[in-house]
Amino acid sequence: MISKLIDGNRRFVSDVFDRERDYFAELAKHQRPTVLWIGCSDSRVPVNTITQTKPGEIFVHRNVANIVATNDWNLSAVLEFSINHLKIPDIVICGHYGCGGIAALDETNDDDRYIPIWLNNAYKARERVDEKLTGLHFQITDEQRSNLIVEENVRLQLEHLLDYPFVKTAMRLGKLAVHGWVYDMSSGDIRVVQRNEIACRD
Ligand SMILES: [Zn+2]
Repeated sequence: MISKLIDGNRRFVSDVFDRERDYFAELAKHQRPTVLWIGCSDSRVPVNTITQTKPGEIFVHRNVANIVATNDWNLSAVLEFSINHLKIPDIVICGHYGCGGIAALDETNDDDRYIPIWLNNAYKARERVDEKLTGLHFQITDEQRSNLIVEENVRLQLEHLLDYPFVKTAMRLGKLAVHGWVYDMSSGDIRVVQRNEIACRD
């Protein structure tokens, strides 16, 4: 498997890099990405492939269940750098149906030390969906419920973005827009679940 990656890199150099030398030479000097992508680490959601974008176009942060948490120094530094330094005008939080992190919200595994702590930032999405469902007079399937939690989690994480004062300020000044998307692995489609109207409420 590992040799497959090195072989792939050799093909990349000969088939892509060498043919677009000028593009990559320019990129080597500086980057000007226009989107910050916050997505799930899941191997089936590779951002450049599903959006058909090139190196240099998207600044990427991925973690389990595309979570935004202000006590996560990793994402916090990514946000600070991309908004205050790179001046990126758009942030996408992209979840995906069939997310293992979201499924884990319903599971208890005593052997896991870190996953439950990490998911503390997402349980609210499950609670909100289950609350809504108790008011309904019809049954939905487990898959439908899971899909709703995936979508709600994207909305919840967009809310968490606003806990960063510099994000809120950039949005207020009209310099930053945020977008909530979900990727459907069964069709390849991206669905918009939340547009920029997520208000900068005080
Ligand atoms: Zn996932």
